[in-house]
Amino acid sequence: MVYYHSIMKIGIPRAGLYYQFFPLWDTFFKELGFEVVYSPPTNASLLKKGLEYAHSDICFPMKVNFGHVYWLKDKVDVLFVPRFISLEEKKYMCPKFMGLPDMLKASISNLPPLLDVNFNIRKKPFIRSWIEVGKRLRVSANKVKKALVKAEISQKSYQWNNLNGGDGLKIGIVARPYIIYDKYVSAELIDRLKEKGMNILTADNLIPEIINKEIAILKKPIYFDFGEKNVGTALHFLNSGEVDGFLYLISFECGPDSLLKEIIDDRARTSDIPYTTLVLDEHTEIAGILTRVEAFLDMIEYKSKTKFNL
Ligand code: SF4
Repeated sequence: MVYYHSIMKIGIPRAGLYYQFFPLWDTFFKELGFEVVYSPPTNASLLKKGLEYAHSDICFPMKVNFGHVYWLKDKVDVLFVPRFISLEEKKYMCPKFMGLPDMLKASISNLPPLLDVNFNIRKKPFIRSWIEVGKRLRVSANKVKKALVKAEISQKSYQWNNLNGGDGLKIGIVARPYIIYDKYVSAELIDRLKEKGMNILTADNLIPEIINKEIAILKKPIYFDFGEKNVGTALHFLNSGEVDGFLYLISFECGPDSLLKEIIDDRARTSDIPYTTLVLDEHTEIAGILTRVEAFLDMIEYKSKTKFNL
């Protein structure tokens, strides 16, 4: 067990589950009196460092994650890179998240100490993981519990602002948070579509009951964290007609999403809601993505006009 002394700055990579939990993490560490340093939004030079240090076989978002850690390593006293094993009952995170702290330590030299506490809801409640984080930072369990109450309030009250309130097409986007909300990784898709007057709907805009209702019809449960959320969202888009069409953004080397895509493809065959998958990696040209998105939108518009003419 490592106890860190005199820690002033905690580094949080702006990658991975930062895009799901940043309100909670930010409030938690600041409530405990630490300075939190974030890496900048993903850019080409961060990605270049990620490609230099990450194993070539891992997925695009993980390579990006390596670039963020490299940027932070000489600027902070400790890095918050937990080992996420399971975030939901009976589910597992992708193995890349489980192995991330080890991969970083093996690949990047002179890293500051990592706060690599296990988050595994199958084995222990999260509060015990946070108390472990506090222990390493020499903060009492009592203070951790108080900070966590405020952190959870800020997480719950955070609004995922995707809709722009216009009367343009309603486009659904299904993707993991570190793909959809990382503007570099997603080629700023949400912003670009909103600029065209479109309304965007993601899993974060749906209440859990909607997603759970769709998931209930599957023959087998999905064992990946975020898997049910994404598949449930896609099924809702296909079944409800709430969107005019939707995009599924996945990373080229992603094992879990290649399986989940099969479920969505299968259901999409019996729906008339337009849907397409965009596969992203570090070689993806923005122009190529935009051309595909344009073609997809043209198809939706053509379809709605045809429907109108009928
Ligand atoms: S789920 Fe896919 S995209 Fe996410 S870390 Fe695992 S392989 Fe990468």
